[in-house]
Amino acid sequence: MELLENVKARVFKFGNKSADGNSSMRNLLGGKGANLAEMSAIGIPVPPGFTITTEVCTEYNLLGKEAVFEMIKDEVEEAIANIESAMGSEFGDKDNPLLISVRSGARVSMPGMMDTVLNLGMNDEVVLGLAKKTNNEKFAWDSYRRFIQMYGGVVLGMKPESKEDIDPFEEIMEHLKEKRGIVLDTEFSIQDLQDLVYDFKDAVKKRTGHDFPTNPWDQLWGAVIAVFNSWNGDRAVYYRNMHGYPADWGTAVNVQAMVYGNMGDHSGTGVCFTRDAGTGENVFNGEYLINAQGEDVVAGVRTPQQITKLGSQRWAELAKIEEEDRAENYPSLEELMPGIFKELNEYQDILEKHYRDMQDMEFTIQEGKLWILQTRNGKRTGAAMVKIAMDLLKEGMIDEKEALLLVEPNKLDELLHPVFDPKALKRANIIAQGLPASPGAATGKIVFFADEASKFKSSILVRIETSPEDLEGMNIAKGILTARGGMTSHAAVVARGMGKCCISGAGALKINYKTRTLTVGDHEYHEGDWISLNGSTGNIIEGKVATKEPELSGEFAELMELADKYGVMKVRTNADTPNDAKVARGFGAQGIGLTRTEHMFFEVDRIKAMREMILADTVKGRKQALEELLPMQREDFEGIFEAMEGLAVTIRLLDPPLHEFVPHQLATQKELAEEMHISLQAVKNKVAELEEFNPMLGHRGCRLGNTYPEITEMQTRAIIEAALNLKERGIICKPEIMVPLVGTVKEFEEQESIIRNTADTIFEERNDKIEYLVGTMIEIPRAALMADLIAEKADFFSFGTNDLTQMTFGYSRDDAGKFLPIYIEKGILKVDPFEVLDQEGVGQLVKIGTERGRSTKPNLKVGICGEHGGEPSSVEFCYHTGMDYVSCSPYRVPIARLVSAQAAIKATL
Ligand code: ADP
Ligand code: MG
Ligand code: MG
Repeated sequence: MELLENVKARVFKFGNKSADGNSSMRNLLGGKGANLAEMSAIGIPVPPGFTITTEVCTEYNLLGKEAVFEMIKDEVEEAIANIESAMGSEFGDKDNPLLISVRSGARVSMPGMMDTVLNLGMNDEVVLGLAKKTNNEKFAWDSYRRFIQMYGGVVLGMKPESKEDIDPFEEIMEHLKEKRGIVLDTEFSIQDLQDLVYDFKDAVKKRTGHDFPTNPWDQLWGAVIAVFNSWNGDRAVYYRNMHGYPADWGTAVNVQAMVYGNMGDHSGTGVCFTRDAGTGENVFNGEYLINAQGEDVVAGVRTPQQITKLGSQRWAELAKIEEEDRAENYPSLEELMPGIFKELNEYQDILEKHYRDMQDMEFTIQEGKLWILQTRNGKRTGAAMVKIAMDLLKEGMIDEKEALLLVEPNKLDELLHPVFDPKALKRANIIAQGLPASPGAATGKIVFFADEASKFKSSILVRIETSPEDLEGMNIAKGILTARGGMTSHAAVVARGMGKCCISGAGALKINYKTRTLTVGDHEYHEGDWISLNGSTGNIIEGKVATKEPELSGEFAELMELADKYGVMKVRTNADTPNDAKVARGFGAQGIGLTRTEHMFFEVDRIKAMREMILADTVKGRKQALEELLPMQREDFEGIFEAMEGLAVTIRLLDPPLHEFVPHQLATQKELAEEMHISLQAVKNKVAELEEFNPMLGHRGCRLGNTYPEITEMQTRAIIEAALNLKERGIICKPEIMVPLVGTVKEFEEQESIIRNTADTIFEERNDKIEYLVGTMIEIPRAALMADLIAEKADFFSFGTNDLTQMTFGYSRDDAGKFLPIYIEKGILKVDPFEVLDQEGVGQLVKIGTERGRSTKPNLKVGICGEHGGEPSSVEFCYHTGMDYVSCSPYRVPIARLVSAQAAIKATL
C-alpha cells in the first residue's frame, strides 16, 4: 500500500459543537456518521464520538483483522481519549466509567440489515462503579443486562437457532417474568436484573464455550469487527444485491458515548418526524417512552406515548381513550416535560431547515438533558412525498428544481390507482404472492373465463394466462390474476394500459378450469368466492377488502405543471381506445406514441369479419372481408383522433401473428364454418395451417402487410379517411403511420409506397388532403444497425423495446417467466430486462439506431413505445439518447413527465 494511503485519516471525531467530517461525506462516513458530524458542527447536542470510515471496512475485507488493528489502533485510542475528556469519565474505569455505543451505518440506509451494540464497556466491576456514581443501582444493572443481550446477539452469535425458536435471551427473560408474575421489562427488581446478567453469561458460556469478554477494549474491537462483518452478512448481501449496491461500499462504524434514557422517570427515549410521513401534513410528531433505551420504542415492549399534545389527543381519539385518562396515564412529552419538548421542537425546526427536507430523528433524554442521536431524510408515502415537496417550495425552503428532485417517480404510482382502505388491510390474510404487474387494489369474486367476467358485479379474472381473446373480459373485471407470465406478459401489459390492477406469475396458484377451482396449498377456492389483489405489492388476499378511489390533490397538479416547465423530452401515451386516450390526456399526455390496431379487432362484431379475412383463400375474398372492417376501423380512429385533438397520434399497422385471431375452440369453429358456408374441416385446416413453431419470429409485423398488401391498404384508408372526416368538422389531427417489425430497408419501402399511394388516391377522391408521417418501429436488431439507410426513407423511428429486448437477449417474452425469476435470484441478471431497459446491451442498439438514423436525417423524430417508456431509469436513458419523446401507458404518464423534468434538471447541475 502506498505511503499516502497510510497517512490518510481513517477515524473522524465529532462532539462538543465541532466535527472532522460533515454531511457531504456520506460515502466515507456513512449516512449516520456524516449526519452526526454535521449535527455536532451546527451545535445540536450529540453525544461525542467518532466514525471509522467505510474505507477501513474495505481494507478489513482485503487485509484482515490484524492489519486493520495496526492501521487504526492509535487513532481509535486517541479518539476514545477525546470522548473521555468530553464526558469527564474513563473507558473501563471502575469508579467513573464511560460506556459507549458501537453503531453500523452505510452510505445508504439499510433498515434492519446491520447491527448496533449499546452500553459497551460493562463488566462486573464497572457495573458497581456505575451504580455508585449514578446512585442508581437498578439502572446500572438494567444497562448491564442489555449490554450482554446485545453484544451476545451481535458479536457472539447468540441468535435463535431456527425460525421456530425465540431469541435465547428473550427466553430467559420470559421465564423470569412468568416466575415473578410481571409483564414489563421495567418491573424487574435489582435482584432480577442481577439474576438475568448471571443467567445470560451462563447461556453464552454454554453455547459458545467461552466466557463473556470482560475487558472493555476487547469488547470494543469485537464489536467493530462484528459491524464490519455484518456488511457481508446474508441479510445485507441479499439487500445489496437487490438494490445493486456494490460490495466495496462497505459500512462505517460509529462509536459514541452512551447517554441513558433508562435512568428513571426523568429519562426516556424516542423517535420523531418533522412532518407527518403518512400525509405530509406539516405537523411535528413522534413517540417516546419514559425510562427506556434504544429500540424500546420501535420494539413495542411498551405502548409508546405521543410527543405533541395534539398528536396525543388524536391518538386517544382513535384508541377510544377519554381525555382524563389520556392526560393522566398517557401524557404527551409536551405536557410531561415542557422544557425538553420546547428544546426538541427547536432542534427539529433547525434540522429540517438545515437539510431542507423532512427529517426522521432519534433522541434520548438523560435526567432532564436532551441528546439527539440520529437524523436522516424521512421515508414517506407517495401522497406525503408530493405534499412535502410542494409545501417546502411554497415555504421558500427549496427552489423549483429541488422540489422536482425531491419526488421519487415510482412512488407517484401509489397516487393514481385505487387503494385498499388501510384499516381493512390490517386484517388481511395473504394467501400467496405474485408479481406486482399493475398497481392498485382490486376486490371481487373469482371468475375463470373472460366471457364470464360480467357474471358478478365485481369480479377478479383468474387465469393460468390471458390471451388477446380475453380482452373484453379483462376490461370488465376489477382485477386480473394469472399463475404464469412475467411483468410483460399479455395480462401485465394490457392491465397496465387499462390502469387495472394485475398480479401475474403467481406460481403457487393451481388453477383447474374444469372444476372451476383455484388451489393454494391445501386451500381450495371456487368461482364466486371473494378474493382481493394488491397490484402494488403482488399480495393475493383472501376475501373482500374494502378499496377506495384515489383523490388527486392540488399539490399533485402543481407538481405536474412544474414538471412540464422543466421537461424537454415530451411524453406520449400508448392508447388503443378513445377512452384510454382521454384518460392519458387527463394525465397530461402530449400525444399518442402507440395505438395497437389489433386490439380493435377483438370486439365481438369485428372478430368475425377479421376471421373471414384470414380464412379467405383469394385476394378477392380477403378484400371483401376487409371492406367490412374498414368502416369500423375508421370509426375507431375518429374517436381516438378526436380525443387527441391537435396532438400527434401514432398508429401501428397490424402486428400480431394471424393465428391469434382464429377460433381454437370447437364450438366457435363450428359457428364460423356455418357463417362462412364452408366445412368445419376447412376451418380446422386453416387454423392448423396458421400454427407456427415460433410465432414471435414468424408471420407477423410488416411481413403480414408485405404478403397481404390489402391489409395495409385498408388500414391506411381507415386512418386517412378518419383524419379527413375530422378535418371537415374542424378538428385537426396529425396521424403518424407506423410500420412494425422492419428489418430491411426494402421491407419498409414496400409498405411505405402502399401507404403513400393509398393516401394519394384518397386525397384525389376527396379532393382534400392532410399532413401525415410514415415511420417505423425499430425493434429488430438489424433495423438498429441499418438505421442510416432506413432513416433515408422513414419520417420517424419509434423504438419497440419489448421486441428489441426479446430479440437482443434471445429471451421469449412469453416463456421468460420460467427462468428470469431464478436468474434474478441467483444474481445472473440484476433486474428483469423487460421491465428495466438493459442500457448496457439493448441500450447500445437504441443509441446506434438513433445516431445512425440522424446521420442521414439530422432532424429525425425519435421516440420509444415499449413498456420501458414509463420506467424511470429507462426514461432517463431515453433523455440522454436525445429522444424527442417517450410513450407509456396512460397511468405512467405523470411518472414519465416527472422523470423527463428530473433528467433535464440533473443535466444542468
Ligand atoms: P439503527 O440504524 O438500527 O437505528 P442505531 O445505531 O441508530 O441503529 O441504534 C439503535 C438504537 O440505539 C437507536 O434507538 C439509537 O438512538 C440508540 N443509540 C445508539 N447510540 C446510542 C447512544 N450513544 N446513547 C443512547 N442511545 C443510543
Ligand atoms: Mg437509528
Ligand atoms: Mg413489437
